[in-house]
Amino acid sequence: MNKGRIAVISGFSGAGKGTIVKALMEKYDHYALSVSMTTRAPRDGEVHGREYYFVTHEDFRKVMDEDGFLEYAYYEGSSNNYGTPRAFVEENLAKNNYVILEIEVQGGAQVKKIYPDTLSIFIVTPTPQDLIRQLEGRKDQSIDFATVQKRLRTALRECADVGRYDAMLINESGRAEACADAIEKIMQTGDVTGHEPDLTFVEKFKAELEDIIEKREKERN
Ligand code: 5GP
Repeated sequence: MNKGRIAVISGFSGAGKGTIVKALMEKYDHYALSVSMTTRAPRDGEVHGREYYFVTHEDFRKVMDEDGFLEYAYYEGSSNNYGTPRAFVEENLAKNNYVILEIEVQGGAQVKKIYPDTLSIFIVTPTPQDLIRQLEGRKDQSIDFATVQKRLRTALRECADVGRYDAMLINESGRAEACADAIEKIMQTGDVTGHEPDLTFVEKFKAELEDIIEKREKERN
């Protein structure tokens, strides 16, 4: 039987996290996906209780004050707060499920302090061009040039954190299931050998991405 364990799954916007998590949930019945609470507004197509619980600042603060979050992120100067409801995680760990948290690096670090056997996994695309293709090809939201640029800049910043994850997976087009299988193996064994963050890859990715962002900006003007 599995021992309950947490998987923190992060990745560039457009790297295919959602598809991988979906494959994981469909293929294996011992995964539970945590739905975070947020004060940000829903985007087109997002459903309350599915992507997030969309709540007011007052409600978010209330949960914080009641110690209802396992971890939370408060971004200084931004109105976007995010938190992982504690009860869902505890209930599923008690059932020996693997709990998936789709959260960012600092949240993952907070969780690791509480549950040291948490495994953190970062999802990337093979190249920055793949990332752009994915972002521009999204049909679920009308994604304009500025939004793509913003997400690419976020990805550029996130490159600095990949080394803090236990594992890095390259999601090649159409290979989401292979990533899901790799995650299952990592969760079962607690062993990330062969999947450690490849910092040479990340540096190259980062340099290329930086160039592409600049070029796109110039071409636009
Ligand atoms: P977005 O607003 O694009 O859905 O998410 C923005 C960032 O917030 C992403 O990096 C996502 O992983 C992170 N995030 C989502 N939910 C949580 C949460 O409950 N806790 C933390 N720490 N980060 C979260």
